[in-house]
Amino acid sequence: MKFKKLVLSAFALALSAAPAVYADKGNIGISMPTKSSSRWIADGNSMVKQFEAAGYTTDLQYAEDDIPNQLAQIENMITKGVTVLVIAAIDGTTLSNVLEQAAHSDIKVIAYDRLIKGSEHVDYYATFNNFKVGVLQASYIESALDLKNASGPFNIELFGGSPDDNNAYFFYDGAMSILQPHIDSGKLVVQSGQLGMKKVSTLRWDGAVAQARMDNLISANYTEKTIDAVLSPYDGLSIGIISALKGVGYGSADLPMPIVTGQDAEVPSVKSIIAGEQRSTVFKDTRELAKVTVQMVDAALSGGEVPINDTKTYDNGVKVVPAYLLAPVSVDKSNWEEVLLGSGYYKKSQFK
Ligand code: BGC
Repeated sequence: MKFKKLVLSAFALALSAAPAVYADKGNIGISMPTKSSSRWIADGNSMVKQFEAAGYTTDLQYAEDDIPNQLAQIENMITKGVTVLVIAAIDGTTLSNVLEQAAHSDIKVIAYDRLIKGSEHVDYYATFNNFKVGVLQASYIESALDLKNASGPFNIELFGGSPDDNNAYFFYDGAMSILQPHIDSGKLVVQSGQLGMKKVSTLRWDGAVAQARMDNLISANYTEKTIDAVLSPYDGLSIGIISALKGVGYGSADLPMPIVTGQDAEVPSVKSIIAGEQRSTVFKDTRELAKVTVQMVDAALSGGEVPINDTKTYDNGVKVVPAYLLAPVSVDKSNWEEVLLGSGYYKKSQFK
């Protein structure tokens, strides 16, 4: 009798906890590149929250920008029997073998934010319009220097992202679609002569690498001349670049800080924008990216219609990966509150 009662109450308990615990639609392996940038932490948290709300369980791992580490984490997820892998690759070309294993186990694969290259086993790609990110960065420089009207010439230096990240080329190409005509006309001058991703890229998006390169660019080219703008593709690089510039006196009344761009609207960079140092960033709402990813997974597993709005841009060398591209938003001192606080992405108290 006592035992029966116990069993019944355990059953009632299980029923009351049913939505979270028993509506298991599958386990989602989420492999993120690093915790060193807050955007990836936000991505991971948003995905866990939204996948769990949709009835999935999650296994979220960060690889601290170490490729073998990411491969081992993904292999482990495959062994544990995840239903789907959502991967933001450190190096988009290193996953072919591990994805072969995933395919043998019938695991669906979503490339998250960064394209996975050289593998046919990538089902969908959820990202932002990466070319547009570069266009927004360069357009900010174009309008801040009034390049359409001013005669110049203005000095600019260019930074690119990590050469093993496909996005870096899209950001650079998008930016150059705006800047190249001004360079060709002589209105913008790259005193170092360093153009093209081979010369301007920054391995692993490392801010210290960008700072060292900016130090060198300054000492080699700007002892007599001043620099008016720096194209930076990511906030973490902008911080290093600004620190190098400050080191030689930029950011004072005699030597104003050049126009420095960025990306991700990370808190330290938004603070820098408020302080008038970094001039712009590009906001990419990671909550929305997580949402699209959950919708993709849900539809792919249930045989529904997977949200896709691009079927031609992202050729990974083996196939064109069907993608959903979200819209990035340019942010500066004039709209940061509206965009970042108004959307509830950040709280005002984070900027005090
Ligand atoms: C992302 C950017 C990010 C960069 C560095 C890129 O793949 O698209 O949002 O700034 O990686 O983490």
